[in-house]
Amino acid sequence: MGQTTATASRYRVLLAATVGTLAALTGCTSGDDDPAAAATTVPPTQAASAATTTSTSTPTTTSTTTPAATTNTTPSTSTIVTTTTTTPSTSTIVTSTTTEISVPPWADPLTSTHEVRPRSDIEPPPLPADWTTEVIGTSRQGRDIVALVRPIDAARRRVLVIGGIHGNEPVTPPTVRALVESPYDADVEVWLVAESNPDGVAAGTRWNANGVDLNRNFSWGWRASDGGPGPLSEPETQALTTLIERLRPDIVVWVHQPYGYTSSIGDTDRALEQAWADASDEPVRSGVTQHGGGESWTNFVAGAPSMLIEIDSWAATPQIVAAHRAGYEAMLLTLG
Ligand SMILES: [Zn+2]
Repeated sequence: MGQTTATASRYRVLLAATVGTLAALTGCTSGDDDPAAAATTVPPTQAASAATTTSTSTPTTTSTTTPAATTNTTPSTSTIVTTTTTTPSTSTIVTSTTTEISVPPWADPLTSTHEVRPRSDIEPPPLPADWTTEVIGTSRQGRDIVALVRPIDAARRRVLVIGGIHGNEPVTPPTVRALVESPYDADVEVWLVAESNPDGVAAGTRWNANGVDLNRNFSWGWRASDGGPGPLSEPETQALTTLIERLRPDIVVWVHQPYGYTSSIGDTDRALEQAWADASDEPVRSGVTQHGGGESWTNFVAGAPSMLIEIDSWAATPQIVAAHRAGYEAMLLTLG
């Protein structure tokens, strides 16, 4: 029994260490606007130091102590699950651990957040007669950053939705453009920036033309490790922050893929994430933060209500676009 306990203890170390490593990888190396590290409320500096500690203690000690763990020389979520389920005495650990982590998309090269993906071929709907366009900035390579605008004098509500900040997330631009066809009250002003990283969208890359991950380039929790030359160093992030500070929207929605959840950021009304989730069939994930992220900057720095929508697929289909249009319209009804 003592040996069983010791084995269980070793698994606990293995799992804890590996979870720490995954958190470090998703948060610092190749993550999107999501995962385990981002879902905590740990400040970026603490998260970084915790991740460093755990990642250095991971592989070799555990691989020599238990046969099942010898296959585990490379931390991998799927390997952990296989290993632990073969040992009944650790079932309680498996239960608690597997609810906290899932196979991260970057673990599969076919679903990597770094993969180059072509622009979606979903046709943009025609711009309604009462809409216009405004160039809110210029990209690194000189492309216009365009907003579709439903301008209203003395608006009661002002809404801003942003897509395409990662250029290899092809469903986000058509999802944002589709919102020109949503029904709006007469006093609701709407701004839609479908391709906030037009160079990245043109190239199919996550990054802008300067090689910067724009959703690590905002000043909230900015890190030198993955945030570019400096906070807000890029013309694309400057254009977005300038627009948000100018508009002071009642809600700013940031659309990404592929993690599959809706989240009201910071003190943003939780009813909004729930409304979008119910209508789009995505789960709610509360308490999400992202170092250097636009959605976090919007609420924690600019003080505007902010939502993160993570569409649950890499695909760009009309069905997905329609589902999130429904989520958006339900959110608007809840906003009132
Ligand atoms: Zn993204």
